[in-house]
Amino acid sequence: MLFHSTRGKDHNRTFEDVLMQGLAADGGLFMPDSWPQVDLERIKTLDSFIDVAKCIVPLFTKSSFSDEEVLALLDDTWHDFSKENFAAIHKLDNTKSILELFHGPTAAFKDFGLQLAAAFFNKSLTKQNKTAIVLGATSGDTGSAAIDACKRFESIKSFILLPDGNMSEVQRRQMTTVDSPNVFTLRVNGTFDDCQDIVKQAFNERSFLKDDQFLLAVNSINWVRIIGQICYYFYASLKINQLEKPLNFSVPTGNFGNVFACYSAYKMGMPLNKILVAVNDNNILHRFFSENDYSKTKVSETLSPSMDISIASNFERLLYDFYADRDCSICDDFYKNFPQSPIKLEKSMWEKSKDLFMSYSVDDISTINAMKNIFASYDYLIDPHTAVAIEAVDKINEELDGETLILSTAHPAKFPEIIKDADL
Ligand SMILES: *Cc1c(COP(=O)(O)O)cnc(C)c1O
Repeated sequence: MLFHSTRGKDHNRTFEDVLMQGLAADGGLFMPDSWPQVDLERIKTLDSFIDVAKCIVPLFTKSSFSDEEVLALLDDTWHDFSKENFAAIHKLDNTKSILELFHGPTAAFKDFGLQLAAAFFNKSLTKQNKTAIVLGATSGDTGSAAIDACKRFESIKSFILLPDGNMSEVQRRQMTTVDSPNVFTLRVNGTFDDCQDIVKQAFNERSFLKDDQFLLAVNSINWVRIIGQICYYFYASLKINQLEKPLNFSVPTGNFGNVFACYSAYKMGMPLNKILVAVNDNNILHRFFSENDYSKTKVSETLSPSMDISIASNFERLLYDFYADRDCSICDDFYKNFPQSPIKLEKSMWEKSKDLFMSYSVDDISTINAMKNIFASYDYLIDPHTAVAIEAVDKINEELDGETLILSTAHPAKFPEIIKDADL
């Protein structure tokens, strides 16, 4: 299994190439050459998350690592998760359950993808006798999950740039109080975009790197992060109904990484009814699914800061695979003048959306109301990102058949100021 770019000019790449490079050389995103199929009968005999992951991860890694190497790595990948609640399912009522993805060390779902990424980074570096600098800009949970995932590996030094802006005090402390000699958190006197500019400049410059040093990015377009997330979709479907009936998934999203992992699981054989794409006021994805308008606007700061984005990077993978039917030249055309001019699909192409996707945009007032309502009805506290996904289900409920699983991407304790303001 090799990988190629959505824009067609970077192909025949191994898993390791894709892991260490992140973005394809032509500016596109890497995709597997075909969708590997998961052995559902085998998964049905399993019980733990790690065992499910062992059926999925090796489907993508054979071009670089033996299955034995990968299975051994997976035994030691996800650390500091709550033992009894690895990816717990909390039933709200007969049609709705919550998938709690916040029981990892930084209390957000990003631990799933980034711990797998860090384990493979370290594996590759050790094999090649090299070291790496991990460089990233963050306004939310990526930074803390990346720092935590990389800190135990001597081969990796992490430099994370924080803006002077919208993040909770818990998020800030998670990044700035890590007592490890290989972690450097730098506060930049500027916005998230300023931080990203510095990161981009560093990736162009590279002159500061030693000969044996890689420069690695920790953004959500790295394919290995998607693999880590595919695992919990299969695991949750197994736990809910033994993969017997298709589920709906409501996913609170910004960059579309978590939604694309759900779509990938479906392409790999997981039964699926609908994916509900739930966004905050930063609604580029909702505008696409409801009006065929994928146009960049200014970022607004919301109560769900980890979804405050102006464009959804991983959406390119869906355009390529689902709408353009894997035609690289169509995908390349979409991005020729984006974001200066919006992406608008031909009507017949865009109408495919209805088969699989629904979307909803939730503003801050409705987010707070959803947190209050869920607490009042179910005695269950949710964070603002999860609230966006729950509110979307509530609004669209009549159109959803069967059971819905709502992804809870952060622990409510990560946002104490908001919980307090909501009088909860
Ligand atoms: C990063 C993040 C999201 C959005 O994830 P995407 O991959 O952009 O879909 C949602 N909720 C929380 C808490 C996050 O940290």
